[in-house]
Amino acid sequence: MQKIYSNEHLHMAGHIKNLLEQSGISCSLRNQNLSGGIGGLPFLECWPEVWVEDDRDYARAMSVIEAASAPEHDEQTAWICQCGEENPGQFLSCWNCASDQPEVIPGNTYK
Ligand SMILES: [Zn+2]
Repeated sequence: MQKIYSNEHLHMAGHIKNLLEQSGISCSLRNQNLSGGIGGLPFLECWPEVWVEDDRDYARAMSVIEAASAPEHDEQTAWICQCGEENPGQFLSCWNCASDQPEVIPGNTYK
């Protein structure tokens, strides 16, 4: 068992748990009853946690979570080059004329 995720908000932890289960990864929620019960501020240790049951699933679970936590433009929206050709989002330069993709958002690194 390894803790893979914790979030102040139970619905987020539950969401992650659902995603993992949809990916066939056994996991469980912890601390789901400890936070927000009496109107007190939940301490970090009391945040809902998602635990992966099988350590061998950890890396895969992590990638599921990363994909889920990625910004909305996860799918890398296509962009239109100055030459008028449309390029898939993962193309950093135009397939047609090799111009650089315009307006690459700082910190938005393409893997
Ligand atoms: Zn072009």
